[in-house]
Amino acid sequence: MDLYTKWAIKIAIGLITGYFATRKNRSFTFWACMGTAGGIALVVLAFLPHLCKRCQQKVTAEEAKLDDCWNCMTVQADSSPHETSDNIQSNDTVRT
Ligand SMILES: [Zn+2]
Repeated sequence: MDLYTKWAIKIAIGLITGYFATRKNRSFTFWACMGTAGGIALVVLAFLPHLCKRCQQKVTAEEAKLDDCWNCMTVQADSSPHETSDNIQSNDTVRT
């Protein structure tokens, strides 16, 4: 196997890793680089939980698929300013 083929395979693994990362709402660029550096990144990624698109909190695969995040639902249902985010605070200002 020549150097060109080796790099083609590395980059292919990187792209696959990046693709699975986006499926988990994780950074494509970061994981594509990790996957190119070593195929082990794909294995590591497989064991990491999905992240919520909006709040970046860990969610289960099922919740990610249904776009049903417990954390976001809690914030929407209860807009008291215990979560100190600018978005939430501005919502709270409108409400009160
Ligand atoms: Zn969320």
